[in-house]
Amino acid sequence: MNYQPILDRIHAAIKPVLGEGKVASYIPELANVRADQFGMAVVDFAGNTYVAGDAQTRFSIQSISKLFALTLAFQREGDSLWSRVGREPSGNPFNSLVQLEREHGIPRNPFINAGALVITDMLASRFVNAENALVDFMRKLSAVNDIGYNRKVAASERSTSSRNAAMAHFMKSFGNMNNKVGDVLDAYCRHCAIEMNCVELAKSACFLANGGVNPWSGETVIDASSAKRLSALMLTCGTYDAAGDFAFRVGLPAKSGVGGGIVAILPGECGICVWSPALEPSGNSHAGSLALEMFTSITGRSIF
Ligand code: GLN
Repeated sequence: MNYQPILDRIHAAIKPVLGEGKVASYIPELANVRADQFGMAVVDFAGNTYVAGDAQTRFSIQSISKLFALTLAFQREGDSLWSRVGREPSGNPFNSLVQLEREHGIPRNPFINAGALVITDMLASRFVNAENALVDFMRKLSAVNDIGYNRKVAASERSTSSRNAAMAHFMKSFGNMNNKVGDVLDAYCRHCAIEMNCVELAKSACFLANGGVNPWSGETVIDASSAKRLSALMLTCGTYDAAGDFAFRVGLPAKSGVGGGIVAILPGECGICVWSPALEPSGNSHAGSLALEMFTSITGRSIF
């Protein structure tokens, strides 16, 4: 399927809303990003790549890293991972603490900050250097060798990470954090500060749409059933407390980040990524959500 005319149409239609919403500013470095940028990429398993706008501009992937950190941890831990983190939507903001006490330090899912901190703790136990392990993983999934994290962004988040530190300490008090909180936070902030562009992220998500097989290397990343399950989690939990509305509007498994990126998959077909830094109050990209909504409306393709 040639998606280029559709992306061109979306790009033209989206222009009037670019910049509407707010760039994340609670991580000081992210506030410096221009709000009205927009990029979109669709990549199929044959490598056909369709792009619009700033699809080659790298941005801070932020919580999109949670999807890939989960995959990497799942490769190592298998189903025992689910004893330390749940699989239910939280219905609360991504950085909320309220459920943790009632639920004894077991985060609702791996895509909220508390869940991702537990996943990062697993990676810190399995790898000498958890941040490099994820960067290497992203290089393999995207088949791009110069992916890395932005030290300034990582340091900026680390210096303002009191809330994530509170969550990690709290979970440690319940026995759900094995490494030193400081080490886990360092790795977590570096994962969030990985920089990639829309094409690279669309390529990286293809294995999930392709039954767990990385189309660029032929390697099995996870088995087909696990790929299906992680995709289900993206649908129910991948876009924060707006996941219900997102499923209603877009109908694709997706994971968003406060850098303004959203990665989505059309199972059996392609990886998709949109990026526009201005966010809706839920923390999802405003123009990015609209672009994905238009994509599924125009093509008539979604998982439903
Ligand atoms: N690094 C961000 C944080 O921990 C990631 C949040 C996000 O993208 N939702 O707050």
